[in-house]
Amino acid sequence: MNDLRSFESHAAGGDGLDRRSFLKAITVAAAAVGLNATAAGRLVEAALAGLKPSVIWLHFQECTGCTESLLRTSHPDLAKLILDLVSLDYHETLMAAAGVQAEETLHAAMKANQGKYICVVEGAIPTKDDGIYCRIGGKTALQIISEVAEMAGAIVAIGSCASWGGIPSADPNPTGAIGAPAALEGKTVVTLPGCPANPYVFLGTALQYVALGSLPALDDQGRPLFAYGRTIHEHCPRRAHFDAGRFVEQFGDEGHRQGVCLYKMGCKGPATHASCSTLHFGEVVDAWPIGLGHPCFGCTEQKLAFRVPLHDTVMIERPTPPDTYAPIHAEQGRVGAVAAGLAGLAAGAALGAGYRFARKLGSEPGPPPPPPGDEGVSP
Ligand code: SF4
Ligand code: SF4
Repeated sequence: MNDLRSFESHAAGGDGLDRRSFLKAITVAAAAVGLNATAAGRLVEAALAGLKPSVIWLHFQECTGCTESLLRTSHPDLAKLILDLVSLDYHETLMAAAGVQAEETLHAAMKANQGKYICVVEGAIPTKDDGIYCRIGGKTALQIISEVAEMAGAIVAIGSCASWGGIPSADPNPTGAIGAPAALEGKTVVTLPGCPANPYVFLGTALQYVALGSLPALDDQGRPLFAYGRTIHEHCPRRAHFDAGRFVEQFGDEGHRQGVCLYKMGCKGPATHASCSTLHFGEVVDAWPIGLGHPCFGCTEQKLAFRVPLHDTVMIERPTPPDTYAPIHAEQGRVGAVAAGLAGLAAGAALGAGYRFARKLGSEPGPPPPPPGDEGVSP
């Protein structure tokens, strides 16, 4: 345990972030993931008082990409921030201990923090052939997760592998890989799918547990609504191109170079619930698939990732913007009429009808609709 703690910076005034930066970083991070000022204040108080929840981080069938993604952050140094807020008592990638010493560390942390620690699971759990495809210290992943989760205060599955099986569970799933919720049936497991999971989403979940002693509101798959409540499509910077019918037809064409919509290249953004479009990776601007010119792969969706071919298109949940949106192609001088409400709701409805195109985009979109007034206003 001591070996591991040498990786930690110390909260507020220690050798990590200075006190002022620490407070600012927590407040900003709390706001970014949806915690209000009161919760952020409680979090700061808890951190200053040295109240750090114990975290036991388990690794099973995975690539360690979720941990790597967390450690590659900066501005603020998110990994440092997380390590300032929690006591990372067991993490096989980061700890120097090995073998018997590591096993002892795990059991000591479980005993000392019984009923209070956060059990973080990274990686899938193989079940085929009595789980022999992942054994650590003579125990199968299934045995380990059952033991550690039994005494935990909260359980978090980080990444798609831990959430439902991810890559290891792709057809034909030779090891019978499943996620933590399936392995721990009947227990509440917060799932943070993503390949890798966004570190901010983990931070948000950990912050709430530290500050309020509760878990965030979850959807029916255990995903926090603050991060998975909306689709990529709803906040995509290329959305205006989708609405205008401007699509990349093949990689490298003029549309691709100009950064128009990737729907026809198989973008799964319309069916993928995640926050990547607003919380980029590593705090690098545009460091997410669509920002780099590649379609969203749907890595947070069990029914899409590693199952639906990369370039197959998906059905569109919400094909048009709300009817009240101003047209993006309105001729100059005529938007004002809409904005002023000249045509009112009736014009809005007519405008929306003009925009609506095939749900699957089977037909080529026509030219933008004429501004209100040219085609008359429906009663
Ligand atoms: S979800 Fe992706 S990045 Fe995370 S451990 Fe699994 S394969 Fe690696
Ligand atoms: S289809 Fe994909 S690229 Fe196009 S607007 Fe939606 S999320 Fe963005």
